[in-house]
Amino acid sequence: PEDGESDAWYPSPKGGVTERWKDSYSKAKEMVGKMTLVEKVNVTSGTGWMMGPCVGNTGPVDRLGFPSLCLQDGPLGLRFVDNASAFPAGVTVGATWNKDLMYQRGKAHGFEAKLKGINVILGPSMGPLGRLPAGGRNWEGFGADPVLQGIASAETIRGIQESGVMATAKHLVGNEQEHFRQSWEWGLPNAISSNIDDRSLHELYVWPFADSVRAGVASVMCSYNQVNNSYACQNSKLMNGILKDEMGFQGFIQSDWLAQRSGVASALAGLDMTMPGDGLKWQDGKTLWGGELTKAVLNGSVPVDRLNDAVLRIVAAWYQLGQDDTEVWPKRIESSSATFSSWTDEEEGKLHPGSPGDEETAVVNQFVPVRQTDEGGDHDELGRKIATEGIVLVKNDDNVLPIKPDGSNIHSTRYGKSFGESIKIGIFGEDAFSNPRGPNACEDRACNEYTLGVGWGSGASQFPYLISPFDALNATFNHSSVKVTTHDRQAPKHAGGIAENQDLCIVFATSDAGEGYKSWGPVKGDRPNLLTQKHGDTLITEVAKKCGNAYQSTTAAANTIVVLHTVGPVVLEQWIDLPGVKAVLIAHLPGQESGNALADVMFGKVSPSGHLPYTIAKDEDDYGPDSKILTMPKNLVPQQNFTEGLYIDYRYFDKHNITPRYEFGYGLSYTEFHLSSVVVETHPARGDIPATRPSLLSPPSLDDSIPAASSAVWPDGFKPLKKFIYPYIDSASEGSPNGKPELPYDPEKPHSLSPAGGGEGGNPDLYTSVATVRATLTNLGKVAGSSVVQLYISYPPKVKDSTGAIVDTPVKVLRGFEKVAVGIENESKRQPVQFNLTRRDLSYWDVKRQNWVMPRGDFTVHLGFSSRDLPEKVTLNPFG
Ligand code: BGC
Ligand code: BGC
Repeated sequence: PEDGESDAWYPSPKGGVTERWKDSYSKAKEMVGKMTLVEKVNVTSGTGWMMGPCVGNTGPVDRLGFPSLCLQDGPLGLRFVDNASAFPAGVTVGATWNKDLMYQRGKAHGFEAKLKGINVILGPSMGPLGRLPAGGRNWEGFGADPVLQGIASAETIRGIQESGVMATAKHLVGNEQEHFRQSWEWGLPNAISSNIDDRSLHELYVWPFADSVRAGVASVMCSYNQVNNSYACQNSKLMNGILKDEMGFQGFIQSDWLAQRSGVASALAGLDMTMPGDGLKWQDGKTLWGGELTKAVLNGSVPVDRLNDAVLRIVAAWYQLGQDDTEVWPKRIESSSATFSSWTDEEEGKLHPGSPGDEETAVVNQFVPVRQTDEGGDHDELGRKIATEGIVLVKNDDNVLPIKPDGSNIHSTRYGKSFGESIKIGIFGEDAFSNPRGPNACEDRACNEYTLGVGWGSGASQFPYLISPFDALNATFNHSSVKVTTHDRQAPKHAGGIAENQDLCIVFATSDAGEGYKSWGPVKGDRPNLLTQKHGDTLITEVAKKCGNAYQSTTAAANTIVVLHTVGPVVLEQWIDLPGVKAVLIAHLPGQESGNALADVMFGKVSPSGHLPYTIAKDEDDYGPDSKILTMPKNLVPQQNFTEGLYIDYRYFDKHNITPRYEFGYGLSYTEFHLSSVVVETHPARGDIPATRPSLLSPPSLDDSIPAASSAVWPDGFKPLKKFIYPYIDSASEGSPNGKPELPYDPEKPHSLSPAGGGEGGNPDLYTSVATVRATLTNLGKVAGSSVVQLYISYPPKVKDSTGAIVDTPVKVLRGFEKVAVGIENESKRQPVQFNLTRRDLSYWDVKRQNWVMPRGDFTVHLGFSSRDLPEKVTLNPFG
């Protein structure tokens, strides 16, 4: 298709065709085979906003023991849930580059969800990918690269699902900015269209979804925006074609909240569940499915086997996670296993707060403890570990860090400071301190007040507590030799006066963003620029220039350490080169353990090991002309063309030879690492495309005849709740066919299957190992630490496609990373590192052939510590 148009792909591929899901589908077939039409529809449709305990609640089939599923945000903690962990956000997790911690966080998150009775977590987020550095929700995901996003998502999913809870890979796809993501928040008739070419779609945006499917993810959420001018939740190419055929997805697709924009079209395009069930508006008492889907099935607009498939996918996912175990998942609030209500903190509350006039109450909050349990372990400790590893040290001149609690290694410029006199330390900026109104003062955390632990929106959760940097630092300093002075405001003038009298200044600043339904000042979800907020740059500059000046014999300022809490890249140029700015720590969004994590790094309990999951430019424009948020709609459907193609973040900087301030993958530590003995072993591949797509199992078949409309009419004497979504129709005549409905495709001529498909995550041969790369990592320094070894590849020069045209390839792309702990003892100071490169890693998406093609010729494999610090190079020819 031309840019800006989406292909048709019908009919929707059926689930239940892979070995891994086989048993769950046969159980599901048993159960769904017994369901009536309205029961089936009930399973696919949410009951309406605030009509049950969770942010999403499906209709139950009590007769057969199928519950109302509880769907809850995600992705960093349990939203609207008491006493759950507020883990570090995705961007922080990405900055750890630590696969084990990614997995552990998922597992802990899933464990807490299970104890709270949540069937489906609405995370992880891997879209937005991070195309736009100011994108409001980038922080929910793991960084501006598909491989980093893909690995982090897969690890998270594995963790969540090992705890017995379904994960949701979201948002499919192209929701790269908040402006115009849907119509109603922005006063437009339509949502934005993200116009993405086929190759970039494959190599960047859906790549992490393939990893998620391969990890066995139970659910995928389609996004609000349009993709190539077709709404994501009714885009047949995206859902039927790419997700269900090419990637072999066996779970169910749910809509983002009100992202469903049509009834019949969305069903035919592959949507399996509508959330929260309301129609085109919140709590409008209407629906696009529910009774409307019943009608559409009765009148032949939606084939019965499409409905069967949607229901099978949902029920199979429930079996797949073992949620039919009624001991773990008993009914608690009506037909739901939830042990909490999203809508009240009290023990008792309304069962259906969204239904006007319904006053029915019950015990809704059981206050189940989840953070520290025998079985689940100590999640506070885990959160601290992740937050610590998510801190990136980008500057540390003269090794001013780490500092000692007694101040003994803090260099004082004070003239005539006598022996035994206290070291004076100033702590500046609101971000160092606790909010006097509490950590949850603003709804969905949609404000930037005091210390910043998380961005805002559905992806934020309640803090059970939030340790501020000041509290943790102050508790560690030895006050018999250190005198701490604080300035908890942003007013630079006042700060300068205090700074003058210090031996060391620690100054804090922030940059916040969030989901588009809320704004904070000029930050309408997306950031208006990449600077710090609340005059942070002015404060830092003032402190760095004045620190210690009262005592100066020379003009050199005393040392200043800058700490940033941020949702993403911040341009540092206003102050980064000031002589006083000796160290800079980018602590991202650390969650509840913020201060403790920072103290662990600043006092050297842990050597910093975070690396940037994005590029920090010297100038916002350096990210390229296509990197800006579209803030003027211009068209009836705002058009956002992804014309930069593959060239986002470091790929853009590399292509145009732009020097960033700090590149993607960059990060310092308190020690020094060295790579050596790099060897590559190839497992010679056959053919430039993957092996022939293997055949899959036949999907379970169920009766696909249209039932009698009379079976779908409201039961006698049924008293519906107002605005609640039900599957029933008013009378049998509503279901009678109005002529023969036309499907948008000929069922006799199904779309051809993708040669890139044939397994979960795509053609299994894409994951065949083509090469193994080994190296030795040595710690050359005096302290133990962890290093992030990164592997990038460059494609052979002048790759030609089947038509002889040159295939443009990025200078280099990330294809793997390993976080390795290296000690200082003889036995531990040298560690082996190993990478596996698959066929997919070495291929490009060929638009003509509609397949992954591995070019012939010499690849270069680069190993090192950032995208621009790659000391080791080896050549690799995958064909031997
Ligand atoms: C019917 C409409 C009905 C819709 C429900 C269509 O096929 O023609 O009358 O409202 O299904 O989604
Ligand atoms: C967000 C989703 C979220 C859903 C439910 C939507 O506004 O885009 O990410 O899962 O709400 O809270």
